[in-house]
Amino acid sequence: MSRLFLRTLRDDPADAEVPSHKLLVRAGYVRRVAPGIYSWLPLGLKVLAKVEKIIREEMEEIGAQEVRFPALLPREPYEATNRWVEYGPNVFRLKDRKGNDMMLGPTHEEFFTLLVKDLYSSYKDLPLSIYQIQTKYRDEARPRAGILRGREFIMKDSYSFDVDDAGLERSYQAHREAYVRIFDRLGFEYVIVHAQSGAMGGSASEEFLAVSETGEDTFVRSPGGYAANVEAVTTVVPDAIPYDDAPAAHAEQTPETPTIDTLVDHLNEAFPRDDRPWEAADTLKNVLVILRQPDGTREPLAIGVPGDREVDAKRLEAVVSPAEVEPFEAKDFAAHPALVKGYIGPGALGADSDSGIRYLVDPRVVDGTRWVTGANVEGSHVIDLVAGRDFTADGTIEAAEVKAGDPAPDGSGPLELARGIEMGHIFQLGRKYAEALELKVLDENGKLVTVTMGSYGVGVSRAVAAVAEYAHDDLGLVWPKELSPFDVHLIVAGKDEAVVAGAEQVYQDLIGEGLEVLFDDRLGKVSPGVKFKDAELIGVPTIVVVGKGFADGVVEVKDRATGERTDVALADLMAHLRG
Ligand code: ATP
Ligand code: MG
Repeated sequence: MSRLFLRTLRDDPADAEVPSHKLLVRAGYVRRVAPGIYSWLPLGLKVLAKVEKIIREEMEEIGAQEVRFPALLPREPYEATNRWVEYGPNVFRLKDRKGNDMMLGPTHEEFFTLLVKDLYSSYKDLPLSIYQIQTKYRDEARPRAGILRGREFIMKDSYSFDVDDAGLERSYQAHREAYVRIFDRLGFEYVIVHAQSGAMGGSASEEFLAVSETGEDTFVRSPGGYAANVEAVTTVVPDAIPYDDAPAAHAEQTPETPTIDTLVDHLNEAFPRDDRPWEAADTLKNVLVILRQPDGTREPLAIGVPGDREVDAKRLEAVVSPAEVEPFEAKDFAAHPALVKGYIGPGALGADSDSGIRYLVDPRVVDGTRWVTGANVEGSHVIDLVAGRDFTADGTIEAAEVKAGDPAPDGSGPLELARGIEMGHIFQLGRKYAEALELKVLDENGKLVTVTMGSYGVGVSRAVAAVAEYAHDDLGLVWPKELSPFDVHLIVAGKDEAVVAGAEQVYQDLIGEGLEVLFDDRLGKVSPGVKFKDAELIGVPTIVVVGKGFADGVVEVKDRATGERTDVALADLMAHLRG
């Protein structure tokens, strides 16, 4: 510690919101360079290396082989798969001195595909799984929480190559099992959820989420074992309802009711129902957004959802990807005079309407459902507007928020919502990349077949933060044994020459036994109190104190997690630590 490149901080950094960010900076593991860009200090690098070690061991276990690609990549391969454009503003782009387009790799499907194409040509070469642990670059719109969401971060990405679907399934399962072991060893509570494959394409896809209040991902689970990322939840579609005896739609004056709450209140006052009060779920809310395609074109979209639900930005982004969602602004209203803000109804929407705006509705809006919705006139709503009779949308969209209590799509019971941090993602990519880049091999019959691929990512740097997110208390970090930067934090408490010499001897003994020891040998100005505080902040699981008791051949062993202190005879120290 007298030489370690470290300055612990007493105060939380001003920009930090979540515990892992605060503590990793305060305890001297990482240091900010720019938004979403961090330097790793000696302690942080040690933890990072331990995460990498776990991942390497489990990848080798399933026969995956390590390679490493450059982060600096040419444009052309991404052009072939259309991702140069699709990735949009998330990619860091640059030019070399000759004016060639280059990028800093956000993910490497194209290059793995091309490398295999370069070297392999027969089914006999497959299956193959290769991986790298490497730095990725994404110009995230919202870098957040220190290394949890960086713009430069470390990812383990593997790719499997198989000649047929059954092979892909086996490679996928092998990776899935390796991931289970990796995340078991990292030690946090996690869930495996169905995921939306988003821009990557492909079919089967699951995410490993660390269960955490501070996570950005919402997932759902049911008592019957269904678990999914909120983006992947599909709505249970009710049966259509007969509407032969439904009353005709009628427009009514509903002054000053631009919001669902004001509308429901007004309905209950002015148009009370016989059976029950009006509810938000009886109304159809039409939300306008702009979709910006990767090529920059802007297209308006209207989304009809029951008034008791919001449009969920993440679900919407997932379905419209690679387009990005932008707000519908005043200038867009100006361009569509048929739209009366606060009173927009299906009559003004749809590809065939005057506005020409594409209109997609929530899957719950089945034929025969009756709605109160905007009449496209200021201060007026239509009541008893029947889907399928009075309006037909251009299609449905899975964009409404998922609520606790909604039925699981597989019938396994009501959904509960929780939050998590995405730690890993496994995809069956299928033939999308192999087709685009023409990765083919000869099969047993001498026929050229397109290879089928999987891609599998783990957030390596994110894992350090995710572990810290649960492995801490009020005093600081509390690393699990397998990830701690050191096995033992040794403190010399006292200036007495014999004690100092004794601590030095204990240090030599412990490292002689193969333990990694952080030795707080700072003398002079650093009081024992400061040493203890630093030890608690840094979070090595076992703290050994050589102090007063040393004269009697005793040291104190403190368990960082429980705070429990035990006096241990020097002769028994190794056995105690190993115990
Ligand atoms: P997210 O939804 O969190 O942005 P993603 O879906 O973009 O993640 P993938 O492209 O599947 O992530 O990347 C694989 C893994 O890399 C993720 O599961 C996550 O653990 C990690 N990862 C992705 N983006 C970041 C980032 N900006 N900072 C740190 N780790 C990241
Ligand atoms: Mg992302």
